Amino acid sequence: MTRITSLLERNEQFARTYTPVALGVPAQQLLIVTCLDHRVDPAVILGLRLGDAPVIRNAGGRVTQAVIDDIAYIGFLASQLFGGQAGQGGQGGQGGQGAADPLFEVAVVHHTQCGTGFLADPGFRSQAAAATGLPDADLEASAVTDPHITVGADVQRLLAAPTLPPKVSVSGHVYDIATGRVTTVHDARYPAAATADPARPA
Ligand SMILES: [Zn+2]
Repeated sequence: MTRITSLLERNEQFARTYTPVALGVPAQQLLIVTCLDHRVDPAVILGLRLGDAPVIRNAGGRVTQAVIDDIAYIGFLASQLFGGQAGQGGQGGQGGQGAADPLFEVAVVHHTQCGTGFLADPGFRSQAAAATGLPDADLEASAVTDPHITVGADVQRLLAAPTLPPKVSVSGHVYDIATGRVTTVHDARYPAAATADPARPA
């Protein structure tokens, strides 16, 4: 007996009508980065279905180096497997502006009432640092107190990452726990555009 037993019963229901999804281009050509908060499940709030979009979740939905590394690999994998499918079937060797033959868009979704917000309090943060062994500065940097601000910082961080594939665009959104609504704060942009216009606030 484990806590997951009741969910295994739900899985049995799921498997009865299940149809396998082949490995292919994600149906929505999206990759979601969001918080691990159990109130922020993108399958529920965005209505994702199997095969729609890969999802990366961590505390706060922050663009950490680990997230950048995953996206770099997924971008490489997608270009190897499906490089010609999204565009006009070329070898993917065009280079330059990605908009002509995009791989996918990364949608970063931060949310209100995030549990990482407590880390903005120095006393709470020092206790958390002692309990987890994580550096105080790292914990401070991970806090989401205003998701509109942090999502912008993380979109910029991802766009500035040297390993971000050029055919991947990045957008930023905020999920409001109180209303259930997702609002777009930053429309999708490609790395080249970010480099050309680094100071643009929104
Ligand atoms: Zn959160």
